Amino acid sequence: MVRIVVDLNRCQGYAQCAFLAPEVFVMHGEEGLLYDPEPDEAQREKLAQAVAACPVQAILVDAVETPDRRIRRSRRAHRPGR
Ligand code: SF4
Repeated sequence: MVRIVVDLNRCQGYAQCAFLAPEVFVMHGEEGLLYDPEPDEAQREKLAQAVAACPVQAILVDAVETPDRRIRRSRRAHRPGR
């Protein structure tokens, strides 16, 4: 799963993202942007294009869980506390 956040204070409603990744971003009205904060992994490529195209770098892609990270986390969680 990919987690994204759009800084809506920064977003100027240029709609580049909605054009490049319409399954994730939808323009609502003149400057309102709606988006899926947890898009499907299959959207990663389009999402990367949208991130690169945003003229004000308002799209933050965060907390992409790699299998490696997940393993490390679960190991830490199961480590005995002694
Ligand atoms: S491309 Fe950037 S500025 Fe334009 S609507 Fe998307 S997030 Fe907002």
